[in-house]
Amino acid sequence: MFHSILVPLDISESRLTHQVIPYVQANAAIDNASVHFLTVIPSLPYYSSLGLAYSIETPKLAEIQQHALAKLDELVKQFNLPADKVHTHAISGSPKDQILKLADSIRADLIIIASHRPDISTYLLGSNAAVVVRHATCPVLVVR
Ligand code: ADP
Repeated sequence: MFHSILVPLDISESRLTHQVIPYVQANAAIDNASVHFLTVIPSLPYYSSLGLAYSIETPKLAEIQQHALAKLDELVKQFNLPADKVHTHAISGSPKDQILKLADSIRADLIIIASHRPDISTYLLGSNAAVVVRHATCPVLVVR
């Protein structure tokens, strides 16, 4: 049923990660799915607009990307999934756009996403979760 599952994680918000763990484990176990974890590093449009993207931003971004991937790898250990089924991605850009783009390229048949930060209770879906639910071409499991 599910062969390729995408789990976008905001690495700055570990409470959201804990929320999704049982749902990822249960759905991955159904068909021994590959699970792709993604964290998106918001891009720095200000530097790009000054034309500094290639002189200053690029080396720093590579460093940030390395740190983000290391933190993501740490978080992913908590999911206790078979190592050969786990893939991690740290990509810069807009979280919602990159989530949808990776979902297409890995042909995700399920996206598992937390609804929003627990301390923001005035709305039902965060801005990234809302766009993913609206535009994804596969089922999306929203964890509240
Ligand atoms: P909020 O605005 O309350 O933070 P979001 O819609 O941004 O709500 O976050 C909900 C979910 O969207 C997160 O749990 C995560 O799954 C995904 N998400 C948000 N930001 C990122 C990010 N930078 N990288 C990967 N996934 C993200």
